[in-house]
Amino acid sequence: MTDVQSALGAKQRTAAERHLSGTASRMRALTLVADRKLELLDVAAPPAPGPGEAQIAVKAIGLNHIDVWGWRGMAFARRKLPLVVGAEASGEIVAVGPGVSGVKAGDRVVAYGALTCGACKPCRDGRDNLCENVGGVMGFHIDGFARDFVNMPVRLLVPIPAGVSFRDAACAPVAFATVQHMLFDNAKLEPGESILVQAGGSGIGTVAIKMAKSIGCTVYTTVGDDAKAAKAKALGADHVINYRSERFEGVVRKLTAKKGVDVVFEHVGPDTFNGSLLCLKRGGRLVTCGSTSGQSTTINLFQLYTQQYRIFGSFGASLRNIRESLAKMASGLTPVIDTEVALADFERGLARLESRQVFGKIIVAF
Ligand SMILES: [Zn+2]
Repeated sequence: MTDVQSALGAKQRTAAERHLSGTASRMRALTLVADRKLELLDVAAPPAPGPGEAQIAVKAIGLNHIDVWGWRGMAFARRKLPLVVGAEASGEIVAVGPGVSGVKAGDRVVAYGALTCGACKPCRDGRDNLCENVGGVMGFHIDGFARDFVNMPVRLLVPIPAGVSFRDAACAPVAFATVQHMLFDNAKLEPGESILVQAGGSGIGTVAIKMAKSIGCTVYTTVGDDAKAAKAKALGADHVINYRSERFEGVVRKLTAKKGVDVVFEHVGPDTFNGSLLCLKRGGRLVTCGSTSGQSTTINLFQLYTQQYRIFGSFGASLRNIRESLAKMASGLTPVIDTEVALADFERGLARLESRQVFGKIIVAF
């Protein structure tokens, strides 16, 4: 542990102890004040949790591309700065509000990262990410988790199973749950099928490889350099393609005797989207949750309907997907961690993510 980390740890403990004794009034909050400008501010701690709420001491945050988008700035996003960043987190309950049952101080939890209403039909049906009255994505539209304490509705908390660390659990609400939702709710990936995972070294790419291998799929994946190729192979990928030295669509078609794969896991966007479609077998499914390389592309409609492709847009996940993700972690399907950084180094983590130098997840430890 570096001096900086231990100093931050000491500061955090002091804040938590003060809080537990009921005297905490200030806390740290990592705040986006302008595009690409983060400040670690000393702000008022939240009040005691209200009815139906719990107060959580944040322990770890997982970084995702949505954090990079938010940090860079997105002109069309409806939000106001300053904004506390951090979209997925784990933590420990330090207090519960009046009338709360089922959870108590000391419980380890992760939080759903969007303020859903809990009352509309999609919410009642368990399709939380289709909430009709969502208050926004935390850390992107509204204040997120990069602060010492946060009050959350108890209905949006999921307990962390025994044996799963705060560090790993911090990857459940966004990274793991997004992949769980993409592969199993949307693409309906079945044991024994074949799948192409684009950008297999990314946070969600590593999760997709591990989840697909865990049910016995044949996994093809793309990476941008040979070092990542070796790591993807070590994760269990059957065929790893360096997209900088080979045309991935040609390699996949050749390896599948021109049949193509059952499912493509997309999140890269225009750079790969049409190549991904060419990798699908007739009737194959493409599921996408991102467009890192740009927002628009054109597709061949004749190819779309004659090949009977099914294309799924996927964003976020349900509370059920978070529970499923944590259960997978408890059974040994743990996240690949690229780096752990301190809260003060959040921006360094974002820059590393933006540069695509990562293999796995970047974690911000409190
Ligand atoms: Zn709702």
